[in-house]
Amino acid sequence: KKASKKHEGKGSKEISQAAVLGAGIMGGGIAYQAASKGTPIIMKDIRTEALDLGMGEASKLLGKQVEKGRLTPADMGKTLSRIRPTLNYGDFNSVDIIIEAVVENPKVKTAVLSEVEGLVKEDTILASNTSTISITYLAKSLKRPENFVGMHFFNPVHMMPLVEVIRGEKSSDEAVAATVKLAQKMGKTPIVVNDCPGFLVNRVLFPYFGGFDMLVRDGADFQAVDKVMEKFGWPMGPAYLLDVVGIDTGVHAAKIMAEGFPDRMQPNYKSGTEIMFENNRYGQKNGKGYYVYE
Ligand code: NAD
Repeated sequence: KKASKKHEGKGSKEISQAAVLGAGIMGGGIAYQAASKGTPIIMKDIRTEALDLGMGEASKLLGKQVEKGRLTPADMGKTLSRIRPTLNYGDFNSVDIIIEAVVENPKVKTAVLSEVEGLVKEDTILASNTSTISITYLAKSLKRPENFVGMHFFNPVHMMPLVEVIRGEKSSDEAVAATVKLAQKMGKTPIVVNDCPGFLVNRVLFPYFGGFDMLVRDGADFQAVDKVMEKFGWPMGPAYLLDVVGIDTGVHAAKIMAEGFPDRMQPNYKSGTEIMFENNRYGQKNGKGYYVYE
C-alpha cells in the first residue's frame, strides 16, 4: 500500500535522538546513515567486537568520502561523534526512537523489545528492522503496541534507497508518520506497507532465492547463475547476494517465510543455503559462504 496522506510525515514528531540495538551489518549501517544525515544515535550491542566493527565500517565509509574530497576531515569527526557505541542501556530514557536490529529470531527480538520498552519514555517509538517477522506478532510482547512499527532498511544501508515502514495491526498513525519522516531525513525513500511475513520486498525476494536453490539442485552451477543474473541486469546474482545478506540471516528468514506461507514456501528438502549454514559458512561476515573471501 502506498503511503497515504496521513503517513506523509509532515508535522509529525521530530526525532532528535535515536538508538539502534545491534551493531551488525544492519545496525552499523543504520547508525552510519543516521549520523551522516545529522541524527545522533546510540548504538548498543552485547559484544565489544561488534561495536568496534560497526565503528570501523563507519570510519571506512567516511574516510572514502574524505579521499574523494566530498567531506572535510572535521566533518568526518563530527559525523563519527554522533554515533555513541555502548554495551549498556544508559541514556535510553532520552531517546525518541529505538530501531531494533538484532538477530532474526522472534524469541530474541520479543525479549529485547519488551526489555527496552521498560526503559524508555512513554512516547518513544520502537521500530524493528526485521526482514520477515510480522510486526503484529512482535507487538504482542509489548505494553504499548501503538508505538511499535517496522522500519525495514536494505543492505548495504548507505546505498539502498528503499525503507519499508510496516504498519502493524495496532501501530498508530503518529508512530508510522514519525518513522516515515525519519526515513526521509536519513535520505531514504519510505513506503508504508501492510503487515505480513516478509512484507513486500521479501515476499518477492524469497521465492526468487527458492527458485535459485531448485535450479542448483537440478544441476546448475551457482557461479554461472550469478553471471547470468548480472547480465539480466541485477547488480549481483543470488548466491553472491546471499553471501552479502548473511547465510545465517537468510536461513532464519527463510524459516519465518516457510512458517508464514506453508502452502507456498515449505520445500520438502534441505536447501543448499541450510547446508552451508550447518557447515558454518555464513557468507561475507565470516569469510566463507557460496564464495570464499580472503
Ligand atoms: P548481524 O548478525 O550482522 O548482527 C546482529 C547483531 O545483533 C550482532 O552484532 C549481535 O551481537 C547483536 N545482538 C544480538 N543480541 C543482541 C541484544 N540482545 N542486544 C543488542 N545487540 C544484540 O545481523 P544483521 O544482518 O545486521 O541483521 C539484523 C536484523 O536486520 C535481522 O532482523 C535481519 O533479518 C535484518 N535485516 C538484515 C538484512 C541483511 O541483508 N543482512 C537486511 C535487512 C534486514
